[in-house]
Amino acid sequence: MSEPAIAVLRSHLSGRWQSGDGRVATLFDPTTEAPLATCSTAGLDLGAALQFAREQGGPALRALSFAGRGALLQAMREAIHAEREALIEMAVRNGGNTRGDAKFDIDGALATLGYYADLGKSLGERHFLLEGPPENIVRGGRVQGHHVRLPRRGVAVHINAFNFPAWGLAEKAATALLAGLPVLSKPATSTALVTYRMVEVLVEKQVLPPGVLSLLCGGVGDLLDHLGPQDVVAFTGSADTGSRIRGHRRVLSAGVPVNVEADSLNSTVLAPGAADATYDALIRHVHTEMTQKAGQKCTATRRILVPRDRLDEVIADLSERLRGVVVGDPGRDDVNMGPLSTAEQRRSAEEGIATLLAGGARVVFGRPGRGEPRGVAEGKGYFVSPLLLVADEPLQASAVHDLEVFGPVSTLLPYDGSVAAAEAIVARGQGSLVCSIYGDDRPWLEQAVLALGPYHGRVSMVDEKMADKAFSPGMVLPGLNHGGPGRAGGGNELGGTRGLDFYTQRTAVQGNGPLLARFLGAAVE
Ligand code: NAP
Repeated sequence: MSEPAIAVLRSHLSGRWQSGDGRVATLFDPTTEAPLATCSTAGLDLGAALQFAREQGGPALRALSFAGRGALLQAMREAIHAEREALIEMAVRNGGNTRGDAKFDIDGALATLGYYADLGKSLGERHFLLEGPPENIVRGGRVQGHHVRLPRRGVAVHINAFNFPAWGLAEKAATALLAGLPVLSKPATSTALVTYRMVEVLVEKQVLPPGVLSLLCGGVGDLLDHLGPQDVVAFTGSADTGSRIRGHRRVLSAGVPVNVEADSLNSTVLAPGAADATYDALIRHVHTEMTQKAGQKCTATRRILVPRDRLDEVIADLSERLRGVVVGDPGRDDVNMGPLSTAEQRRSAEEGIATLLAGGARVVFGRPGRGEPRGVAEGKGYFVSPLLLVADEPLQASAVHDLEVFGPVSTLLPYDGSVAAAEAIVARGQGSLVCSIYGDDRPWLEQAVLALGPYHGRVSMVDEKMADKAFSPGMVLPGLNHGGPGRAGGGNELGGTRGLDFYTQRTAVQGNGPLLARFLGAAVE
């Protein structure tokens, strides 16, 4: 029997498909470990690719108003939506996603494109953003200063992580393209199949003008050496790679802005005296965060703070939910959690679990290891079973605050129920993407939101009045900020029009007030 054909993924650069000619990377099916595709970027002229995007893509986008750019995003959404079923299948095979996981990624991409398409429409025929009212420099308004946000004249280089090949492309591209900046997107090599097909569809259907969206499939090569002072880099991935990009010689010398979304030890906090509906939402959400995409979400809950007197109850209720998780071939309907996406991620998760256990945590549900995945050949696949841990002395267990195990693993941290104790524990994470707080004591909630907020880019508060409608905290929403201080990288993405800030230059323009108001399309004050 002949081996199934392996796809060769190319890059779309300088307006055409190109293949590298050197060391080839292989993409695998993490369930069977079978090779699926190869790609290479060796020998590609990445400097020319960036220049082509600057010269062709940038002017094409800047010629369009926000409404015109929004229409491009809407066309992208429609073209990708038509391919949804095929993309889901690819995510199952290349990412180890269940169909539900795959939809979370792909539908999240579609929703984000749709949100920014609508935002473009609402911003209308303007080409740039005005920030706030003018400043009067001389009394009477004759000499004024306006702040404008103008699209930068470079390229937005997007370097993405392996876990969201669809959403990662879309969420970054939506904001950059709406701002007026062409994009060069580089997916993580290991799961690039979905991103590749999305871009292939856009090219086949000629949705975008030349140079507006380029794709680099494979290693980053010397891309960063060719960056210029009008370019930007938005990166999602590990803190190590983020630091390497920030410290890159060319990035530093050209002053290239870098947005980093990196490791995050997100927390969930159960307040004392939470109502039943609120408590149930926490149990539901923690279960989702631990098992959706096998816990490979940057926003997944890693640390769960519960009042010490409710610890046993929470262990029992979470364990009951986790007993319903069937790990195995994610293509099967009777499986609800697949493998980790790569052999390297499995190795890293296994090492991480050992470190947590050596550092003051104990297992209260599950057993470290691959378990017995359903429908999978003996010993095959990058599986990690769900694991619930407890660190009885949270402030002494440093690993749980320092190490993000990127898999179906979370740790319960008992605390005395005070906001001060919750803050002391949460702060040990050194900055995270999201914190979720579940409670019904309003003064407590108010204090907690204000005390825990500074350590996070987003805080999700759930009380009994809206517990049945609340989204699980790991869901990133296009209208709300995504990013986090400190260890999380200090980045900001999305958040409606705020997401455009990174791709635009804030310029103060001062002069003849009424004349400037006319030039800039501002109301004369
Ligand atoms: P990674 O190894 O840092 O890779 C991320 C991206 O960076 C990939 O596209 C990778 O390309 C590229 N890359 C690798 N070396 C580079 C270099 N020297 N210069 C420029 N780019 C380089 O991370 P990962 O394995 O994809 O993801 C793992 C971690 O990312 C997770 O453990 C998690 O902590 C974090 N993460 C954070 C978020 C967030 O939003 N905060 C989201 C997802 C993941 P290749 O694939 O070609 O090597």
